[in-house]
Amino acid sequence: HIINFTDIQLYIYDKCPHDELTIIMRRYMMKIAETIAKDHDDKALITGESIGQVASQTIESLLVTNEVCTLPVFRPLIGFDKQEIVEISEKIGLQLKEFLLSSDLTEDVENPDYVFAIGGDGTVLRTFNKYMDKLDTVKFLSIHTGHLGFYTDYSAEDFEKIFFDMLALEPTIEQYPLLHLKAYCKDGKLIADSYSLNEITVNSHSGFTYAAKVFINGEHFENFRGDGLCISTPTGSTAYNKSLGGAVIHPQMDLYQITEIAALNNLVYRTLGNSIILSKEDELIIKPLKLDNHRISVDFRTFNYDTVSKLYITLAKDKKISFIRYNDVSFWKRVKRSFIENE
Ligand code: NAD
Repeated sequence: HIINFTDIQLYIYDKCPHDELTIIMRRYMMKIAETIAKDHDDKALITGESIGQVASQTIESLLVTNEVCTLPVFRPLIGFDKQEIVEISEKIGLQLKEFLLSSDLTEDVENPDYVFAIGGDGTVLRTFNKYMDKLDTVKFLSIHTGHLGFYTDYSAEDFEKIFFDMLALEPTIEQYPLLHLKAYCKDGKLIADSYSLNEITVNSHSGFTYAAKVFINGEHFENFRGDGLCISTPTGSTAYNKSLGGAVIHPQMDLYQITEIAALNNLVYRTLGNSIILSKEDELIIKPLKLDNHRISVDFRTFNYDTVSKLYITLAKDKKISFIRYNDVSFWKRVKRSFIENE
């Protein structure tokens, strides 16, 4: 049976205290399940709950949901160690899917309007990569099941709030800029054409120092020699870029940043030393001095090339990523709770 729950949820949202929405919703779900069970002369209910997995499945919560049922409720997974992040993600995914399908939405993996990423920032990067060609239509919403995430808004503990937020609130859509990379080999052939949500890093894959000429808007800017260069988006500024000492940038600024990775400075190779912020019009070209041993990382993906002669990097002109936001956790609050203190 699939029961459309939308009207009940809206009613609960309207009439009940908001910190008890999930538990009241679960009581109604149990009540409905019991009504159907009794119609079919079934003798018990079976659920997939396990203790302490999310806030609505503590002993106290299970006790309160049980109170609305007269049939026995069996929970065969009750003692399973579901703290494993992957399992939590899978379960949240299933619950979310059930909810969405009961709210007049359909599942379309190939051409979705909304994509839910459940995991951490790494999951968001992988989900972005999967739907990179569909950014014009796709909007992302993410739930973190591990540590606090930068791209994620809901935690595993409060993810059921999404159900209510989606029904009752008008979301804001936040768009963030991306980087566009084109890599060419010596004969001018395009060998990589990709977009990045966090950053593009270049270095040598042999362990030798990486040496390259850096051009901004066609003009020679500096000769780099060192471990490599990290070119980050505003959203990526809190990731690898931050570990390298780069500036943290508000994610909706249309700009990008180059940060050096352990630059050597001597009479031949001389770099600015500071990270550089480039505008959305600026075009960055990196020409490695040695064409072999070239490693390019785009977010979590790494490619080794032995023929790269030129990298062309700009802020993507035709693409941005869109996130749906229901709660207004400001970017600076995210920075504070991730790096300074989590109140
Ligand atoms: P991972 O599992 O090692 O995760 C790296 C960490 O980066 C995680 O804690 C994640 O939450 C965090 N992170 C990712 N994007 C973030 C963002 N935009 N703001 C703040 N923190 C962020 O590796 P992964 O899951 O494959 O993620 C790839 C990312 O790892 C890369 O895009 C890069 O930014 C980051 N990275 C960081 C370093 C470093 O800080 N020294 C080195 C290599 C890669």
